[in-house]
Amino acid sequence: MTGAVAGLVLSLGMIAPPVMAAAPEGYDINSASSLQVVVNKHRQLNPAAYVPASLVRVQGERLRSQAADAYKQFAKAAKAAGVNVMPISGYRSYSEQASLYDSYVRQYGQATADTIAARPGYSEHQTGLAMDIGNASGTCALQACFANTPAGQWAAVHGWEYGFIIRYPAGAGATTGYTYEPWHLRYVGRAIAEDMQIKKIATLEDYFSLEAAPDYLP
Ligand SMILES: [Zn+2]
Repeated sequence: MTGAVAGLVLSLGMIAPPVMAAAPEGYDINSASSLQVVVNKHRQLNPAAYVPASLVRVQGERLRSQAADAYKQFAKAAKAAGVNVMPISGYRSYSEQASLYDSYVRQYGQATADTIAARPGYSEHQTGLAMDIGNASGTCALQACFANTPAGQWAAVHGWEYGFIIRYPAGAGATTGYTYEPWHLRYVGRAIAEDMQIKKIATLEDYFSLEAAPDYLP
């Protein structure tokens, strides 16, 4: 680098410090089959009716094999610590998601339905990488108070060790498009889950420097 260029870089740097990329390079967040795919209200799965190739059973629910292995380790460690974590909802197909979403639209209207369930093709559950968990007792199932239950606490404290994040954290609805869902675990792999923990980055949108996705695009 010549002295002139170095001086220019330095002076530009002083005016506007370069923004460090939040996430390391090399992750595929676009392919539906990627373990790091980012799905939100601005990012529909491609193809919309994507079906994962390797779905395996986990206590009556289904997950991609990598996520299933991680989930089993997660639940086993919880049990060893005296916490009984139960799977509530894992993989949902495009048509299952359509039925769910349509039933909410009929009951509550589209505006409210959009705050409760994803539209088909926009759900993390369709990736086979998301699992809604509960307590074996059923306490606070799919409610914000789940966060204060043994399974909710276990997930919040230890989920990252198994490659899971709380995908819809408290207070991040303007970014993720969803209110707090302490029960919704998303498998992203240990490296990212740990990195987000260390850097205190709460959402995949922020981690990958993506635009906020509070609502569907018109
Ligand atoms: Zn969920």
